[in-house]
Amino acid sequence: MLWKELPNLSSSKNYLTELYLNNSLPHAIMLKGEEGAAILPLALGFVQFIYCDNLSKKDFPCGECKSCKQTKNLFYPGFQFVLPKFSASSQKQESNEDDIQLLFYQLFKENIFLSFDDILKEAKGKNKQAFISVQDIHKVIESVSYSAIGGKYNVVCIWHPEMMMPAAANKLLKTLEEPPPQTLFILITHQPEELLPTIISRVQQIHVPLFSDKDIVDYLIDKYSAEPSKAQEISEICNGNLNKAIGILHHFDEYSALLNDFREFARLSIKYDYDGIDQWIKKYETAGREAVKRFLQYVLDVLHHCLLQNYQLNHLIKTTQQEKEFISKFYLYAHSENIPKLYEVFNEAYHHVVRNANLRMLLNTLFLKSNELLKKQNTVSNV
Ligand SMILES: [Zn+2]
Repeated sequence: MLWKELPNLSSSKNYLTELYLNNSLPHAIMLKGEEGAAILPLALGFVQFIYCDNLSKKDFPCGECKSCKQTKNLFYPGFQFVLPKFSASSQKQESNEDDIQLLFYQLFKENIFLSFDDILKEAKGKNKQAFISVQDIHKVIESVSYSAIGGKYNVVCIWHPEMMMPAAANKLLKTLEEPPPQTLFILITHQPEELLPTIISRVQQIHVPLFSDKDIVDYLIDKYSAEPSKAQEISEICNGNLNKAIGILHHFDEYSALLNDFREFARLSIKYDYDGIDQWIKKYETAGREAVKRFLQYVLDVLHHCLLQNYQLNHLIKTTQQEKEFISKFYLYAHSENIPKLYEVFNEAYHHVVRNANLRMLLNTLFLKSNELLKKQNTVSNV
């Protein structure tokens, strides 16, 4: 059951339940929080709470009644879930659209903390732009024009409302200005600043905090039987993002290998050892596009930490001990002058990989550009 599966978050849960139990629920709320905040499972848990038939006994959904069983599968009369999809303008693309929705239901069953990026990674049309169309909004608004069953609410959850097309956003705005009775809109977003100010002014904003390191450690141990020391180490690099923590736990060896790969990349790049570079690239060509993306994302994190080290903001560096040791040396190469450029180069490479660029050419260019940037400050011989 979603509500109980969410570790801690008691202040957010209490706030929401009190709104409901005191009959002070507005017609639209927005759950917002940094990347990694559990806004989606909290919203869906709240839906379960609203529809539960046995609420009077306890302040959380019972998990046993018919309604709880239905909402557990995210299907309930009067409940609508909207998420960004690929364009549905052609028959072929329509099947992609179904893929995203279907994938969401599959992946959510495995991990309630999943991000939209996790879905895109698995989706067939992964290089296309996903958005919420005016038709999507039109459909849900039409459905909530019927009165809710059994005196309950119609609930519309919109995940990533910042990805609404302008016409969709305007359509939603009109509805929020004259909301249908007994209807609750829940907007779920990490980027509220991307929404129309007129929409923001129509919703009650509820900030959802990130998890504490302890929440993450406990969750990894209880749910996945992780070793306490490993759970602790992972929690320290995840900045309260439980989804990231679960991902690292499942691919821990892969994660640890990233540092070695980057250390090697930096060494080869500075020396410009052509044979070594060729071997390195072959390995990643074989590992594939997702592996290259994980590597580039990892390097972007390392560069961020190098910058913190340059500014002596060591207390903000969230890494494993090995990474800390590496950064304490590598920051002499990646320093405040070249990090912005390095960041740009790796970021650009990441976007090219997403857009299906040739991996060999892309990695060769990356070695070349890194060579130019890193050798500028060659003051220490051993990285
Ligand atoms: Zn129930």
